[in-house]
Amino acid sequence: MNDKDKRLSRPEIQKIIGEQKLDIFDKRKRYREVKHEAKILSDQIYNVERNCNHSFGEPENDPHVVREALPGTTRLDRENSHGSDPVFKCSYGDVTKQRWKRTCSKCGKIETTKRKKLVGCGLKREVPDFGN
Ligand SMILES: [Zn+2]
Repeated sequence: MNDKDKRLSRPEIQKIIGEQKLDIFDKRKRYREVKHEAKILSDQIYNVERNCNHSFGEPENDPHVVREALPGTTRLDRENSHGSDPVFKCSYGDVTKQRWKRTCSKCGKIETTKRKKLVGCGLKREVPDFGN
């Protein structure tokens, strides 16, 4: 490894200095300021989205991973049970769920859905259901 690889980047240095400089009172003050700014931005975004006559593009696949109890893995753990209280354990795993998203080309609003609906007459086909 040469010296260049060991050097910290400017943002890394600023991050370290920033974290050391802020005590808990500064952090609380800064947190309130950031929260206040976030609320203002959130209200502005809400107003733009509310007044937009959205133009959504084609839905895109947007699968997401959730942590779930795996079916059939619940079991009684006798070693850790106390008296008459049974202890149940189950295994968790990452499960990929189907989801779609669409983005408005005018305001950037992103909608997601996990639902599907049937459309068409005669030969029906499934499409993402965004509720409209
Ligand atoms: Zn829009």
